[in-house]
Amino acid sequence: MRYGLISDIHGNLEALNAVLEELGRERIDRYLCIGDIVGYGANPKECIEAVKTIGPEIVIAGNHEWGVLDLLDPEYFNEYASAAVTWTKKILEKEELDYLMSFKLSGSIGDITLVHGSLDEPSRFKYIFDTNDAYAAMKLCKTRLCFVGHTHAPGIFYADEKRVARSPGLSVTLDSSKKYLINIGSIGQPRDGDPRASFAIYDTKTGGVEIRRVAYNIEQAQEKILRAGLPAELASRLAQGR
Ligand code: ZN
Repeated sequence: MRYGLISDIHGNLEALNAVLEELGRERIDRYLCIGDIVGYGANPKECIEAVKTIGPEIVIAGNHEWGVLDLLDPEYFNEYASAAVTWTKKILEKEELDYLMSFKLSGSIGDITLVHGSLDEPSRFKYIFDTNDAYAAMKLCKTRLCFVGHTHAPGIFYADEKRVARSPGLSVTLDSSKKYLINIGSIGQPRDGDPRASFAIYDTKTGGVEIRRVAYNIEQAQEKILRAGLPAELASRLAQGR
């Protein structure tokens, strides 16, 4: 089974299309989506439509879905995120909101668990930045693999009997004596200094997990953000991948 994993699309249709084109060449059997389809970018409707079209086996709710659905305290969001949530809420229709409402906070399939932020109180959307955060999530994980998003910075953590550590690089062949927590990064607003869209492929036969990057038309996504009247910062940061 080959899984295609996507997360933090954030209304960036140019980035999503580039990723789906790449995944289209990868003999993917099942798609999994880890949340934040909307927010920041100018094409939330089109991104919802594109995700619906590939029909992921599981779609997890992100904090931006919860923001748009009024399930989070507005104080949770910073100025730019809050402007994006308000703008997105205005343009989505009932059918789209109903779709977002159907997402769960966590889910599992086979040897995979999915959550947007952390398994440590999923509804609080905690960030996993370091090995301590990873430990808190991994001890709650009942499967050997947990995929997350939310920080927009891809990375691989593993745990053996002794410790939780960060694995170098962005691909790994799973070792049956270890558990893994893998952040697949963001499609629509990467923040690790690499502006290319980030996504992942998990092949259960080879035990290989690979985080991949693909370039997309950033200028076009930026232009749409500015034209929509969203904060200019949301456009400029795409070029820096910050
Ligand atoms: Zn996000």
